[in-house]
Amino acid sequence: MEMSAINPYDNALKQLDDAAKLLRLDQGMHDFLRTPKRILTVSVPVKMDSGRVKVFVGHRVQHNDARGPFKGGIRYHPAVTLDEVKALATWMTWKCAIMNIPYGGGKGGIACDPHRMSDGELERMTRRYAYAISDIIGPYVDVPAPDVYTGGKEMAWIMDTYSALKGSVTPGVITGKPIPIGGSEGRGEATGKGTAFCIREGAKKVGVKVKGSDAVVQGFGNAGTFAAQFLDEMGATVVAVSDSKSGIYNKNGFDVKKLIEYKAKYKKVGGFPGSKQITNEQLLELDCDILVPAAYENQITKKSAANVKAKLIAEAANGPTTPEADEILYRKGKMVIPDILANAGGVTVSYYEWLQNLSRDYWEHDYVINRLEKNMVKSFNDVYQKAKEYKVDMRKGSMVLAVGRVVEATKTRGIWP
Ligand code: NAD
Repeated sequence: MEMSAINPYDNALKQLDDAAKLLRLDQGMHDFLRTPKRILTVSVPVKMDSGRVKVFVGHRVQHNDARGPFKGGIRYHPAVTLDEVKALATWMTWKCAIMNIPYGGGKGGIACDPHRMSDGELERMTRRYAYAISDIIGPYVDVPAPDVYTGGKEMAWIMDTYSALKGSVTPGVITGKPIPIGGSEGRGEATGKGTAFCIREGAKKVGVKVKGSDAVVQGFGNAGTFAAQFLDEMGATVVAVSDSKSGIYNKNGFDVKKLIEYKAKYKKVGGFPGSKQITNEQLLELDCDILVPAAYENQITKKSAANVKAKLIAEAANGPTTPEADEILYRKGKMVIPDILANAGGVTVSYYEWLQNLSRDYWEHDYVINRLEKNMVKSFNDVYQKAKEYKVDMRKGSMVLAVGRVVEATKTRGIWP
């Protein structure tokens, strides 16, 4: 995957600085929120299948826990850096605050290329990383989850390693687990479902009818696939999608179910029957109503923002729009539903999973999705109101709401010692 020279942590700090100004935060509080509470970098030695030992570098960043245990995924990707993990941890703090769930923000990552590793190597790396961070995670301390290129398999290894180390079965140490070991119904589709609920609410505000609209989805992994599926179910026409290998377009729209099956079989979207190949730039600039970046950071930049035609942009990915691009899109009258709201369905159902683990009482699928819908609609409207009150875009509105809630918790708790 191509990496951009833009540092996502600079973007995260810029967003915080903007909110601090709007909220007239005092310098001490502002500095407190700019500084992660704890950063742990660990070496992760792994016996590779060849017999040699390879040392990977992993991080766990705990940004803020004023409102509850740190919460956030673990990413496996060659481009993982400490600054990226710091940005993602910071965004988690705001995301949990927006959803009003009792968590702070954290994130983890290992710089590695999981697609070039065997299952055995991945398991040994995951378990060694879990061991290395085991002293700073726990069901009431820090609860990790999946992110890019990690999923149920890795979460199960972490749950097992932590439980073995602590001597008791501890499903609540991690979320995104498979159902047989304490996963929640609805977790798989939660992020895409949450994005779809936000699109439905946002469309009402900008005068787009989802039914009959044209939608474009960048990235076809967990977040992108389900977002495309729910857009399709709401009557939108999905005209373009992409993955790390290529982008595809069909002006008449795709049969999304068949496309999902095709991607599962061939591990790529390229070559899907009836599609035309397009570049990433072409995809972002297509004439459409709804654009869902669901891949990676810094995709919509100053350069591409000027050419974006979609009226509604829902950020299923974390950090896909740079701050300069944000300004351009706002001036052009576009609504950007920010990542910390649009992709918060995942962490919200993670929270439900954790509640079920702690209470040992498990919920049915429809109950999970209904609760998620209420939570997403409420948070969407909270953000929309804040944006109106402060006369700012949805991103700044969401930041004012989130930072305000974290500041309130911090002031109420006080600083000790
Ligand atoms: P994933 O590993 O399931 O999928 C990532 C997808 O992006 C893959 O299809 C990959 O081929 C594609 N991709 C990679 N580089 C690309 C590029 N340059 N152009 C187009 N596509 C590209 O990951 P995911 O869980 O779907 O995460 C995607 C984004 O959503 C990330 O930013 C992640 O932080 C965010 N997110 C995910 C969740 C979740 O619950 N899965 C929750 C919140 C946020």
